[in-house]
Amino acid sequence: MKVYLDNAATTPMAKEVIGVMMDVMTKTFGNPSSIHAFGREAKVIIENSRRTIGKYINAEPKEIIFTSGGTEADNMAILCAVRDLGVRHIISSSIEHHAVEHSLDNVKGNFDCKISLVNVDEKGNVDLNHLETLLSSHTEKTLVSLMHANNEIGTLLPIKEVSKMCKKHKAYFHSDTVQTMSHYPIDLKEIDIDFVTCSAHKFHGPKGVGFLYKNKDIPLKPLIEGGSQERGLRGGTENITGIAGLAKAIELANTDIDSHIKAVQSLKDYMIEELQSKIGGVDVIGEVNPDKSLYTVLNVFFPKFSKQDMLLFMLDLEGIACSGGSACTAGANTGSHVLRGIKADTTRQNIRFSFSRFSTKEEIDYTIQKLVKIFKS
Ligand code: PLP
Repeated sequence: MKVYLDNAATTPMAKEVIGVMMDVMTKTFGNPSSIHAFGREAKVIIENSRRTIGKYINAEPKEIIFTSGGTEADNMAILCAVRDLGVRHIISSSIEHHAVEHSLDNVKGNFDCKISLVNVDEKGNVDLNHLETLLSSHTEKTLVSLMHANNEIGTLLPIKEVSKMCKKHKAYFHSDTVQTMSHYPIDLKEIDIDFVTCSAHKFHGPKGVGFLYKNKDIPLKPLIEGGSQERGLRGGTENITGIAGLAKAIELANTDIDSHIKAVQSLKDYMIEELQSKIGGVDVIGEVNPDKSLYTVLNVFFPKFSKQDMLLFMLDLEGIACSGGSACTAGANTGSHVLRGIKADTTRQNIRFSFSRFSTKEEIDYTIQKLVKIFKS
């Protein structure tokens, strides 16, 4: 049996998404910037996709800038806020994705921009009192960049509360919503937020495409210079096939979203129960409260044992794909900055299991059975 429990790294594409993309790929090859009929046909696909996406997140089409994915969108929000909006102070945390963390290193090194890190507790919750203190003790133009859900441990940010705080202190607010976009219903008119980011491959769409939502009142210049695509905000001939796939993936994910959430949450709860009753000594990393934790991510510490460094490899041999943390640093073997950030006991072996609406109870049962074999042998 092959089991895929690494959906926070990426998800398999939905067959309907592939269908739409095949259709676009076979029928529409025009350059959307060309004024002839071939070009106009391609342009219509892009603008219809933008409208579809806008409808699901309650944003105006002009607030959506297509990018090559979450990394580019995060880079654009941070770099452009500093370069174009005069931001000179950024409040973030030590457990952000590297797309944010390394963008912060960039603006710190290349612009006169100060970075403050807000405290996080041992479950990855942001200390809101500390955030308030940081916001009120700085006079420079400030951007707050805090992720909506942590991709390694799943802890959720109270995004509305943070947005109100930012508003009160006149700070810009960017949230990396790559792990929550289309995992939860998101109504951007209900959150006072300037930038959010999206990556299609996290919800059964294609890789290499996503978008930056930028509030329409924010004046930015492009990060990628070139032609006047994306209303002059992102040069380069558009990835029409990918954009059409992204729109279809958003539509599918948001259809029956409540039942997807319920089904996946119950798989996660079931896996926690099974791990604790059949293996024992297993501790959930991050929040256990479902209101504060992303339902697709379950990161746990296993009891110490002699072959713990081999655990991921042993599961892989059994056909089970999961991970130690972020896929972006896998292979680097430097350990997780997120686990260090929450001061977890990194001498214990952890595994992140992550689910999608395609995950099944059979996959969990098979994984538990193999883990029991490993731990009891
Ligand atoms: N932000 C978070 C929280 C992520 O999990 C990822 C993907 O791993 C990214 C950003 C980067 O997205 P992409 O792979 O589309 O560049």
